[in-house]
Amino acid sequence: YAAKRSGSGCLLYDSRHDTQTPERLSLMGELRHAVEHDHLTVFYQPKMDLATGEVRQVEALVRWDHATRGFIAPDRFIPFAEQTGYIKAITRWVVRHVVAQTADWLERGIDLQTSINVSARDLLDNELPDFFQNVLKEYRVDPRQIWIEITESAVMEDPAHALSTLEKLHNLGFRLSIDDFGTGYSSLAYLKRMPVDEIKIDRSFVMGMVTERDDEVIVRSTIDLGHNMGLKVVAEGVETQEILDRLRECRCDLAQGWLLSRPMPAAKLEDWLLAWRAKKATA
Ligand code: C2E
Ligand code: MG
Ligand code: MG
Ligand code: MG
Repeated sequence: YAAKRSGSGCLLYDSRHDTQTPERLSLMGELRHAVEHDHLTVFYQPKMDLATGEVRQVEALVRWDHATRGFIAPDRFIPFAEQTGYIKAITRWVVRHVVAQTADWLERGIDLQTSINVSARDLLDNELPDFFQNVLKEYRVDPRQIWIEITESAVMEDPAHALSTLEKLHNLGFRLSIDDFGTGYSSLAYLKRMPVDEIKIDRSFVMGMVTERDDEVIVRSTIDLGHNMGLKVVAEGVETQEILDRLRECRCDLAQGWLLSRPMPAAKLEDWLLAWRAKKATA
């Protein structure tokens, strides 16, 4: 079944059974209803500057705030939305929501840059750059406040088309980040041609870096590669102090992960930031 209940009672999308089943149609209906009635929400996860300990950037991560099933993780519905093309509507909802939040923070003196994840399908949407620009104008936010995260595989699906969308976004002033770096079907030739500002080392390498020699070599080499290309390097999935210390030794720029905080609602993030800055001031 395309959509079914798992043991925990959560919606489950399983791409192995990919036909027009009633379950699939009902998931589509539910998802459309969720977007139209603002039953999606966005959590934010801090990215810490490893040299200063400061937090000036957060990643926006969508959740489906379901009436009976609670918060549904993006992995449960984003792949489905990508296949059906409904991702276009979700991305627009997320962009508007996150830009509005960023504007609200700036107005209240909370200076945060936010990153938004976009899918392969979004990069083939010719109207996306204009949409981004219009929302920014509407909320009077500088595009330099907004980062766009894409995976390597998203670009490789149709490199010429994806590159042209990325060029447009970059020319508008948005900053670009390559997500899950090292796991995708990628080519360094494209990295060279892409207007990127940041790479995020996939958490599978980061998590293994203090126990597996290969993972450490990959992490160190990726940091050096990024720096030599003039890019900022972020480590994702930082769960322990030992890994954080090792990343600092390797001169990684930013760290993101459960050690600092799990993703959280906007209001909770504000409290977290106050506590974080207070702790730093007394440290
Ligand atoms: P991602 O962009 O690579 O986001 C990082 C994921 O790792 C998030 O999962 C985050 O909660 C999780 N994570 C963060 N720190 C740690 C850690 O220390 N340990 C572990 N084990 N996990 C950690 P989440 O929020 O479930 O999102 C999963 C994926 O869904 C994202 O991966 C991204 O590819 C996609 N996604 C999320 N929001 C959106 C969105 O608005 N649009 C699109 N197109 N995709 C989204
Ligand atoms: Mg991401
Ligand atoms: Mg990632
Ligand atoms: Mg990921």
